[in-house]
Amino acid sequence: MSEKTCAACDCALDETAIRVTIGSHVVEACCEECAEKLREASAKGST
Ligand SMILES: [Zn+2]
Repeated sequence: MSEKTCAACDCALDETAIRVTIGSHVVEACCEECAEKLREASAKGST
């Protein structure tokens, strides 16, 4: 289970994955658009 998926859309990640820090942990997104969604969700305070 070494394959990672985008935290926003669940598609497979490759070496271009973008790291997004959410609170105290780091998730990875497939593209800037997904990264932005994760940041927005985090900013809204939804745990
Ligand atoms: Zn994505």
